[in-house]
Order: sequence, then structure tokens, then C-alpha cells
Amino acid sequence: MKLYSPTTISEVRKKHGFHFSKSLGQNFLTDKNIIDKIIEKSMIGKEDLVIEIGPGIGVLTAAAAEAAGKVIAIEIDRNLIPILRETLDDYDNIEIINNDVLKIDFASLLEQNEQINGQKRESVRIIGNLPYYITTPIIMKILEDRVKADSITIMLQKEVADRIKAQPGSKTYGALSVAVQYYCTVAHVASAPKEIFVPQPKVDSTVIRLDVRKEKPVILSSEETFFAVVKAGFGQRRKTLLNSLTGIYGLTKDEVAVVMATAGIDPVRRAETLSLEEFAALANTIRAER
Ligand code: SAM
Repeated sequence: MKLYSPTTISEVRKKHGFHFSKSLGQNFLTDKNIIDKIIEKSMIGKEDLVIEIGPGIGVLTAAAAEAAGKVIAIEIDRNLIPILRETLDDYDNIEIINNDVLKIDFASLLEQNEQINGQKRESVRIIGNLPYYITTPIIMKILEDRVKADSITIMLQKEVADRIKAQPGSKTYGALSVAVQYYCTVAHVASAPKEIFVPQPKVDSTVIRLDVRKEKPVILSSEETFFAVVKAGFGQRRKTLLNSLTGIYGLTKDEVAVVMATAGIDPVRRAETLSLEEFAALANTIRAER
């Protein structure tokens, strides 16, 4: 069944009396090239476990199941579950979970799936055409929970992908760029115009691959302090760091000035110009002075 075909989507909807839910971010993919590219760039192997977020009617799920040892698809909309059972009936290596991905305990899910077809699991690949309304919370949950995934290949709103990819000095560089780049390297996979979705969203999309770093890019004495500094810095991004960091951990302006001098960072700089290494130097100095 060509699940990417708009005709199939329409037939499935009619047969099951299914209505698209805007609030669940349901925009289904209809472009075979993009689907193939997501699967190819996910580098899925036969001993791999794929976790898919938001399978919809199963277009990516079926393609992933061809390449993977096992696919676990997590879908919140219970109206899609009978549809998925039907569209994915040909595959015996797919498990469908009807739940909110934000409520999933990934650690225990991975523990239950250490063996794939009787073999030790190789890699964990997360994929998904993410629902736009919770793209950032999903990414941050996976990263902050330290889900033992090797790669995360996801379709998301172009504007959010641009923020994730952004480098210091650019307008889109912010707390999300720093956080994601701390945990992962980021690669552009494909651009996806809004016309390839049913129903058509208002914005274009981008597919990116996040490769989870085996080693962190900077040495931190405290991750908590690092993220607190990043948050405070970008919280008032128009202000100089001297001003935006005043008050953090009760530090006075003079104390922040000393910290910045020790870390070798000009106090008139703004957060959007700081590299990961500079944020780390600042956070480590604050930690040492406390
Ligand atoms: N993968 C399908 C495709 O590419 O055609 C559907 C993608 S659609 C953009 C997003 C999917 O995520 C929908 O099926 C939606 O019901 C599901 N979804 C929305 N919120 C979710 C959540 N919190 N947890 C799991 N799935 C969710």
C-alpha cells in the first residue's frame, strides 16, 4: 500500500471515519523521496531498534520496518491505532504504543528491548515527523533524559531547525542551539516544502539528523550551572552579559565583572556571540567562585 499517496490517505480516512487533528499537529507526509532520505540518513541496520515518534498512518514506520530489526512506534491519537494495525499488518517487527511520547520511560523501553531477534541490539535510532506544537519539549526530553540513542533523525519546522543549527553571532543562535549542540552534532538532511504534507501546514519543514556525542564537547564542573548561565544569558539577549548575569546565584554586578574577567570574556558581549567553550568557561568560573 502506498501510504504516502494522498489518495490512500483519503481512502484510509473515509474507511475509518478519521478526522485530522490540528491540535495534535497531524500533517502527513506524501513525498516518497523525503521518506527514503529520512530512512537512508538514519543509517538503520538489521540489528537496530528504531523508535518512531508520531507514526500517523504509518508511512515512515513501514519504511523503517524494512530496514530495522524492530520498530517501536509511539502514537498519542487512539483513533490512529486501529488504522496503524491495518496499514502495518504485513510487518511482524513493529510494536505500536498508544501514549504521549512525553510520558514514555525511554530507559525501561530500551531495557526491555536489549535483544533484537535474539541478537544483542546494535544501535538505537529515533526518527519522526514531529508534531510541531511540542517539537522542542520532545527533543529536550530525549537529550536531558540521556536516552541511549545513537541518532535522532527528525522532520521539524524549518525555523526551529534553523535555531538548532545556528552558530554564534547569528540571529537565530540561542539557548536551544547551545543545548542541542552540547549533546549532539547536527547535520542537515533535507528541506521539505509545506506542499508535500496533507493537510498542508502554514510553514516549511527541514529534516535534520542529530548524532548523539559519545564525548561532550566541553568539560563542565556542573551542567546545572552551565544551563543556568545559558538560560540567564539568553533570557535577556539584548542586554550585555554583565547585566543579564547579574543576580545569577546571588552574584552582584561587581562579582559578575570579576567572573567575566577571570573567564577572559569581555563583559559588554552578548550571549548570542558566545561559543559553547566560552559558556563553559563562564559557568566553570562561576562554579569555582561560589
Ligand atoms: N509520521 C506521520 C507522517 O509523517 O505522515 C505523521 C506525522 S504528524 C506531523 C505527527 C504525528 O504525531 C501525528 O500522528 C500525531 O497524532 C502524533 N502526535 C502528536 N502529539 C504526540 C505526542 N505527544 N506523542 C506521540 N505522538 C504524538
